[in-house]
Amino acid sequence: APQQPLTDLTPDQLAEFTAGKRAAYDALVARGLKLDLTRGKPSGEQLDLADGLLALPTGHTDGDGVDVRNYGGLTGLRELREIFAELLWVEPEQVVAGGNSSLTMMHDSLVQMLLHGPVDGMPWRGQDVRFVCPVPGYDRHFTMLASYGIDIVTVPMEADGPDVAAIEALVKDDPSIKGMWIVPTYANPAGSTISHEKAARLAAMPTAAPDFKIFWDNAYAFHHLTEEESKTEDIISLCSAAGNPNRPIMFASTSKITYAGAGVAVLAASTDNVAWYLKHYQFASIGPDKVNQLRHVQFFGSAQGVRDHMVKHREILAPKFAAVDVALARELDGLGIAHWTRPTGGYFVSLDVMDGTASRVVALAKAAGIALTPAGASFPYGDDPDDRNIRLAPSFPVLSEVEAAMAGVATCVSLAAAEKLAGRHVATA
Ligand code: PMP
Repeated sequence: APQQPLTDLTPDQLAEFTAGKRAAYDALVARGLKLDLTRGKPSGEQLDLADGLLALPTGHTDGDGVDVRNYGGLTGLRELREIFAELLWVEPEQVVAGGNSSLTMMHDSLVQMLLHGPVDGMPWRGQDVRFVCPVPGYDRHFTMLASYGIDIVTVPMEADGPDVAAIEALVKDDPSIKGMWIVPTYANPAGSTISHEKAARLAAMPTAAPDFKIFWDNAYAFHHLTEEESKTEDIISLCSAAGNPNRPIMFASTSKITYAGAGVAVLAASTDNVAWYLKHYQFASIGPDKVNQLRHVQFFGSAQGVRDHMVKHREILAPKFAAVDVALARELDGLGIAHWTRPTGGYFVSLDVMDGTASRVVALAKAAGIALTPAGASFPYGDDPDDRNIRLAPSFPVLSEVEAAMAGVATCVSLAAAEKLAGRHVATA
């Protein structure tokens, strides 16, 4: 039967609905599930796609005759920089290929800005420093900033990228706002990709801080879930054309292309920013793991090799994302208590439940053996002011587990909403 909005039910109908959901929930608990949708990790099946790496590299010299087993080469292997330059629309000289983690490169960049100052500014340490972050967003951006005492000013994430008008208004007059973080493509967790218009405005907007920085975290640049592939905006050229060449620093990695724990990460920026990064980084490293870099060069062969590899991931991931949508729609369509994203890329579905019930949904799911990311995890300090958002990560479990877990989550969403509404009925009766 088509479902009615829960708020339209009479108290008696609502009591009946709640009793039905309570029974369904008790049956769910009785099944003794043990499922985990907490973190956006690739599944074993996805990791297997890259096992060719384990037989590589063949030989130990790269195309320039460099013995990759030895020290040196702080910029990373030329051939790997060329592959990423093509993928990220920059020149090879604008790319540094590093270790396994782009998060580490973001952290190093931030710390160098604090201690030594960015390429075009004084050290941020000792100054009042704040960052703009779209919400919901990536928890590790928030926790990294918080760990250095950098305050976070939030702006809403929208379907075509962050609320740029709000960002423009914030940065225009406040010199303490030194930077912003953004996941431009298939954002974590909102799934949105920034539009050309919004990217161009970020590139050109006047900022009170002369050394304002955009941390352009392109973690999901190639992670399409459909054949229609969103292209990332070329923020480096846009900023350069707007007279702000040193504003953006782009980050990406193969963590969700090859191995999450043993891929390669890259930083891309203006050649001045690259020189700045290396000037400080030379004191931290004599060179990256070039054996792993050569392994990746040989495994992919070219930028097209990376794109082709991503199709195999899509074939594994797309059915899981479809299963999330089917399970949520089956139980929740028409009830007027939840909406969720249908991302065309990335690793997450962002689920908004009835205000004030997200923590309850997560607790109910936990008691039924379904581990969800804590409510509020996509907000700074874990605090979702509306207690509304839940980040779902369907990549890791096998398809049947995603189906079972999401059916269970849907039951928890409707039970929590029904309980809340029933409580309200009683309270206002
Ligand atoms: N940025 C975003 C937006 C992410 O979602 C993740 C992984 N969850 C990372 C960065 C981490 O990247 P890496 O593995 O390269 O450190």
